[in-house]
Amino acid sequence: MDGCIFCKIIKREIPGSIVLEDDHVLAFLDVMPVNRGHCLVIPKGHYETLQDVPDSELPGLIRGVKKAAKAVKKAVSADGYNVQMNNFEAAGQVVPHAHFHIVPRFSGDGLKLWPGGKYREGEMQELSKKISSLVGQG
Ligand code: 5GP
Ligand code: ZN
Repeated sequence: MDGCIFCKIIKREIPGSIVLEDDHVLAFLDVMPVNRGHCLVIPKGHYETLQDVPDSELPGLIRGVKKAAKAVKKAVSADGYNVQMNNFEAAGQVVPHAHFHIVPRFSGDGLKLWPGGKYREGEMQELSKKISSLVGQG
């Protein structure tokens, strides 16, 4: 899509440190890494969020995430990694081209994941029913 920086990286209109490319995905280093080796895996088509990615593209996308994650872990001798996807602005999505972050983790690197909250009595059951009734709807 015109104006999309990730589409420009796919088309080699702007440079990207590409680590993997196949028919479905491109993976490249994030320019502002949380830890060294932090990379982004994107579908080659322009889709804004996870829910815009066609089902037919999902297997190739997640396979790309797995391949890139294994290589990144080895390359930087990480002890683990987080796979994160920000969807919509409220969740921190800045670039509106769907992407998975692979963030290598090192024991004791001090990064904190989000804190856990609490449900009120009965709320968990109510909410799980509501969500399950919506699963599979458009
Ligand atoms: P988001 O917040 O949308 O999930 O993450 C977007 C990511 O893209 C950020 O971590 C940011 O550092 C990265 N990024 C933004 N512009 C560029 C760019 O031009 N090149 C590369 N390699 N990464 C970028
Ligand atoms: Zn795009």
